[in-house]
Amino acid sequence: MQYFSTNRRSPHATFREATLNGQPDDRGLYFPGSIPKISNEFWDSFETMSRGEIAFEIIRPYMGGEIADQSLRTICDETVNFEFPLVRINERISTLELFHGATLAFKDVGARFMSRCLREFSSGNSGRTAVVVATSGDTGGAVANGFFGVEGVDVVILFPKGKVSRVQELQLTTLGQNIHAFEVTGDFDACQTLAKTALADPELKSKMFLTSANSINIARWLPQQFYYFFAYRDWLRAGHDKPPVVCVPSGNFGNICAGILAHISGLPVAHFIAACNANDVIPRFLESGEMIEKKAVATLSNAMDVANPSNFVRILEMFDRDHVRLRDLMSSVSVSDETTSATMREVFEKFGYILDPHGAVGYRALADYLGGHADAAGYFLETAHPVKFDSVLDITGTFGEIPESVAELESRPKRSEVIPPDYEAVRDAITRLIR
Ligand SMILES: *Cc1c(COP(=O)(O)O)cnc(C)c1O
Repeated sequence: MQYFSTNRRSPHATFREATLNGQPDDRGLYFPGSIPKISNEFWDSFETMSRGEIAFEIIRPYMGGEIADQSLRTICDETVNFEFPLVRINERISTLELFHGATLAFKDVGARFMSRCLREFSSGNSGRTAVVVATSGDTGGAVANGFFGVEGVDVVILFPKGKVSRVQELQLTTLGQNIHAFEVTGDFDACQTLAKTALADPELKSKMFLTSANSINIARWLPQQFYYFFAYRDWLRAGHDKPPVVCVPSGNFGNICAGILAHISGLPVAHFIAACNANDVIPRFLESGEMIEKKAVATLSNAMDVANPSNFVRILEMFDRDHVRLRDLMSSVSVSDETTSATMREVFEKFGYILDPHGAVGYRALADYLGGHADAAGYFLETAHPVKFDSVLDITGTFGEIPESVAELESRPKRSEVIPPDYEAVRDAITRLIR
């Protein structure tokens, strides 16, 4: 399998090269040269395969043999070694809970897979590897956890000071060892700019191998297909006879883009909904065909506060950049904060189910869609556990059952360094670490 750049000015890359490069030099995104089709044999044994086996069969064609089957099997087993329950909320709406992993968010899947690929690719590599990641909360925790304790790899996390939730901050700052957390006195965009500058810094690059772990990396993007297959199996087991409408709370559009990729490979899906918060560049684009860039606005569902979703070009790529054709398969709506909190209250009162703000955006978008499609049913993705978002307590009055891992975090000492949002400070910090 070869990967090409969506901007088509960079050379093709193998899975290994694309994982290590992160992004092609022409600032496009890597995209698989061909999309594998799910085989009949896969469907024949679908009902009885383990999650790890499903993951292995889905990802194997994308690897081009660059990780031996036996290692890849282990990586897949470790990546999906937690539950992915499809929980029924009412007759027509279910939720796919993706928050049963180490850091209680769906990003655990991509991060676990990617960290294990990097471990595989850097073993036998004498120099140090530094993973530099900017996070608005969820990404950093998942990446840090995925890489925790990995020999020869340091993780540098840049997050906006005071702008992540209490649990997120604990997840980012209490690991220690090879995980280095920096609280930047600026916003998420500032963190992202700093990370990008570091990744392109020739001086740093001469001292260590630098890589990013953001959601555009194919080793994080591709494994997100796995749970759409798990969900489909549970969907059939629940007795549904039509493919589901699948609603994905979306920010950078990596998650939904993986779902669409799975669908093009053969996974039955009736329709996709990209549920956005007030950051509505894509809903507007699908309506008008015009991409009007805006600044990101802060919302309750802060992991989706993305102004210009970078993975969206991959979706366009799958539809030959024809947004009218895309509209048949995917619609996109914007849900305000007011509606989000009203939905959290409503769903708690009616069904006793506690939504996090991202899941609430998803629930709302799906419920509204089903309102106009009387025969349809579907599920939305619960992308993170409610306890990760402080607003849940204010709005719903409870976090529900608090996972054990959270109490455990509270007992650990915090380790982090506060730095100003200027690049010199970041370069000094990274240089000091890697000596
Ligand atoms: C990252 C994140 C999202 C958005 O996912 P994308 O792949 O960026 O669209 C949604 N919800 C939560 C909780 C997240 O952490």
